Parts: sequence; structure tokens; C-alpha cells
Amino acid sequence: MKVELKNKKVLVVGFGKSGQAAARYCIAKGARLAVTDLREKKVFSYQLSAFSGHPIDWYLGSHKLEVFLAADLIVVSPGVPWNLEPLKEARKKGIPIVGEMELAIADSRLETRDSRPKIIAVTGTNGKTTTVSLIHHLLQTAGKKSLLAGNVGTPLLDCLDQIAETEFLVLEVSSYQLETTPSLKPDVAVWLNVTEDHLDWHEDFFTYVAAKTKLIRQASPNGLVIYNAEDSMVTQSVEQIPATRFSFSSKRQLKLGGWVEEGALLLKIKPTSEPQRFDLSEIVLKGIHNWENMLAALLAISGDVPLQGNVPLLQKALETFVPLPHRMQEVRQVSGVTYINDSKATNVGAAVKALASLKAPIFWIAGGRDKGGSYEPLKELVKKKSKKLTFLEKPNKKWPLCSKNVEIL
Ligand code: ADP
Repeated sequence: MKVELKNKKVLVVGFGKSGQAAARYCIAKGARLAVTDLREKKVFSYQLSAFSGHPIDWYLGSHKLEVFLAADLIVVSPGVPWNLEPLKEARKKGIPIVGEMELAIADSRLETRDSRPKIIAVTGTNGKTTTVSLIHHLLQTAGKKSLLAGNVGTPLLDCLDQIAETEFLVLEVSSYQLETTPSLKPDVAVWLNVTEDHLDWHEDFFTYVAAKTKLIRQASPNGLVIYNAEDSMVTQSVEQIPATRFSFSSKRQLKLGGWVEEGALLLKIKPTSEPQRFDLSEIVLKGIHNWENMLAALLAISGDVPLQGNVPLLQKALETFVPLPHRMQEVRQVSGVTYINDSKATNVGAAVKALASLKAPIFWIAGGRDKGGSYEPLKELVKKKSKKLTFLEKPNKKWPLCSKNVEIL
């Protein structure tokens, strides 16, 4: 999508990290800028002084419909609901609405395939940050110049100056970003899984899945699509995709792709070759979900770092990867009890994988905001695996309660 900014009236909605990156970029490109955020002015004292030399119209504390309707282009931040009333009205009027990532992808430094780095983009309900970090680590260990950006922390717009020296751009892409980045055409698209999440943002599960599907639909036809063979929503969606496809499974052997067998990851990407074997015993990433993330990461780089011939190097890279904090992170052991911090498990899918990966008995401390999905997939696991369940607040009625071992703090 061609994004013209010079002298255009651009409205940035949401002034977090990515909104600020978008504002800086739009100012540099000569746009006339307005910024709106529901948070009050006092929250932004630091940002207001950082942007003080620029003529920006500020609308803080509320959204004004007329400001949305007066814009030539609206740049929304992740987390701003797609069905926000003024956005709906702007859409009806035909005003283009994009995300910060779209501005970056449409920039001349990333626009054309021949002059830009190879783009490896990862989406999924869970495991994105772990998998992009792992892909980045594998590429770097193999001596490739890789840049990590997107939902993982650094807005892509803030990375553009480094693009010229980069061979691989590894992008974490959330469902919000997929809705608002129509020009993203990854060379390698990885879809880890899809379970119910963010139903407070998307209209329903199907629009959430449709948003995720965009990543593989937009994948370059000459590219590579990596997906989870055990996720029926994912497998249905990849059927018509022209790109080369490889899947992975933590449950069974596949003809081609990646799977788990007797303490090892096995990967086979050519029908005629033997599977390549990666031993799990010395790898710090643990759990079924991390087997899936590792398989996905190895498949994602397999076109550029051939597995055959590079097993020792990649094995070492898997062993030196430091798991990210708050994701099934072993905190310490005290008197025979292992304490695990999995506070990044903010949806049912992640909690299911955590419970399934651990051996009983589990004392599970849970809490958090309801995002509208079903808790049914947890029911059996809670019964089977958890010895005691402690809620930090009054649980939602939908929780699969087992009355005798539940306490509410
Ligand atoms: P994301 O960036 O998608 O939120 P993270 O890597 O930050 O993913 O992990 C978030 C949570 O999901 C953690 O609780 C982690 O243990 C869990 N998780 C990681 N990978 C997977 C996976 N492949 N399937 C299900 N849960 C996962």
C-alpha cells in the first residue's frame, strides 16, 4: 500500500511505544499530525516535552469523532479496539486505517524484495516472543545478520535505520498488527497455534482466526509457510496457500516437517533424506509448547541454514538459548518444591500447555482479566493435575472449579 505522508493530516490513535514511533516518523515525512489517547494529559508529561518542538494537535483524555473524520490517514496502536466507534465511522467514510508496522513496511527501505532483508514473520496465540527470539538466536549463531522487531519490543519504524546492514528481519506479529499491516508479505510465515484470546478486541473467534490467517495468505508465493499440524483451525487455513509448506507436531511422526521422538526433535525437509536429530537433554527450554516453538524455529531457518551439515552448530545454539522470563520460568526450589513463574500465560491455551507439561501435583495460583474465551479446555487438566487451585480474586463463573481444592484470596 502506497502511504503518502507529506502535508497529509495524520491522526495517531494511542500514544504508547508504537504510537510515538509513528508520530516521529510522520513528522519526519512532513505530515500534519494529531494525536489522541484516552489517557489524560498528566500521564504524558514526559512525551509532551519530548515532542514539544513540533506542531501537534493533542486530544488527550477522550476521542473526538470529528478529529477522526477530518484525518487523511489514521495510524492505530496495538490494543486500540478495531471496532472502536470513531474508527468504524472513519472506515465508513473510506479513511485508510493502518498500524505503525504498515508505515514501516511501505517505507522505501523495505518496499522492494530485491533490496530488503528477508522477512521471517511469526504469529500465533502463544509462543510468538519465544519463537522469534529463538529464530534470531539461531540465525546469529549461524553467522547471519538478523534484526528482531515488532510486537517483541522495538517498533519496526524505529529499526529502519539498521535495515541496510541486515540480512534477516525477524518480526513478531500480533493479530492486531495483522489487521493493520496489509502490505506485509513475509518470505517465511510461521503460524504457531490458535486458541481463543483477545475476544474483547476482535468481534468473535472467527474474526480473530481470520486476522491470523492473513499472515499466511500474504506470504510470498515463493516463500515458506510453517504451521502446527495439530491445530485444525490452522491446517484448514493453509490448504490453499501456494508457498512451500512444512508442518510440525509434538504428538506424532510426520512424513515431512518436524516432530518429537524419544527425547529428541526430528526434522525432515526432503523426502529422500534421513531426519536430522536434535537431542533435548541439554536444552533449557522445556515443555511440549517449547518443543513446538523449537521445531517451528528450526523449520523457519531451514531454507537459509541447511539443517543437513549444521546440526552440531544448531544443537549448540538451542542449548545456549536463554529462556525468557515469566514464561514457565523456574524461579527456585525450596524444600523439595519447585516454584514456576508463568505469569505470561494470559489465556487458556498457554495455561493448558503449562499444566500438560508439568507432572502432578501442582499448586496452581491463578488470576487475571477475562478476555471472553471458554475455560472448558482446562477442566480435565485441572482435575487431573492440580492439587490445589488458588485464585487471587473472585473467579469468573466460567472457571472449571473443583470445589474441594479451591481457595480465593
Ligand atoms: P506470546 O509472545 O505469543 O505471548 P510467549 O513466548 O511470550 O508468547 O509466551 C506466552 C505464554 O505462552 C507463556 O506462558 C508460555 O509458557 C506460553 N507458550 C509459549 N509457547 C507456547 C506454545 N507454542 N503453545 C502454547 N503456549 C505457549
